[in-house]
Amino acid sequence: MLISALFLLASATSPVPATPTETPAVVEPSPSATCPVCGKTIEPGQGTKVSIRGREYTVDDTACSNQLMADPDKYLESDGTPKNARK
Ligand SMILES: [Zn+2]
Repeated sequence: MLISALFLLASATSPVPATPTETPAVVEPSPSATCPVCGKTIEPGQGTKVSIRGREYTVDDTACSNQLMADPDKYLESDGTPKNARK
């Protein structure tokens, strides 16, 4: 009579593949602007909005907005681009 021993290895560890649901929370509403009058960098949320000939510009304070409204041709090109805007 033969006695056979059976060893059953039940490795029932099936790891559930974890899918990372992290989304990069980098929300930038608007990039920093440059004052068309004095060239100062204006952080998002700062400054004053000025509408000139249908375009909106961001200046750093009311003194610059007054200058821009008083003499827009001095600071803006004919197509509306600020003269101090360099690309
Ligand atoms: Zn300014």
